[in-house]
Amino acid sequence: MPDEPDVSDTTATTATTATTATADPNCLFCRIVAGNVPSTQVYHDDDVIAFRDRNPQAPTHVLVIPRRHVAGINAPEAADGPMLAAMVRVANAVARAEGIAKSGFRLVWNVGPDAGQSVFHLHLHLLGGRPLGWPPG
Ligand code: 5GP
Ligand code: ZN
Repeated sequence: MPDEPDVSDTTATTATTATTATADPNCLFCRIVAGNVPSTQVYHDDDVIAFRDRNPQAPTHVLVIPRRHVAGINAPEAADGPMLAAMVRVANAVARAEGIAKSGFRLVWNVGPDAGQSVFHLHLHLLGGRPLGWPPG
């Protein structure tokens, strides 16, 4: 990953990179990584992709995910550190590219039923472009 994630090419694209050996064929986001399910990508590199949420909850609602299948954020291991840092760096770069870095944004990991987690491939929500209520719903 370069020093600064390059989000200059934000044209809508569908992932075409081949799936990795760790992909789960039953996982929706693995299928998005593989390009088998279309998505509107705003960023990609060798490890991470970011694409617009299908059901946006704010003017900017982007999901940042690792290419490799990781079920969730509930069992992080020390070795996951670089991947998690890369995801956060990409989220910040996308926020800047979307013009919401100064107005503010929220990064969200949903874990389990009370948080409404519905997809079990690690993903970081980037939400912004409007005032976001607190406490969240
Ligand atoms: P979770 O609720 O698991 O934290 O977030 C899953 C997110 O994935 C939801 O915000 C949902 O709208 C989004 N999502 C589900 N299926 C698709 C899809 O096929 N394409 C895209 N772009 N987003 C999806
Ligand atoms: Zn997956």
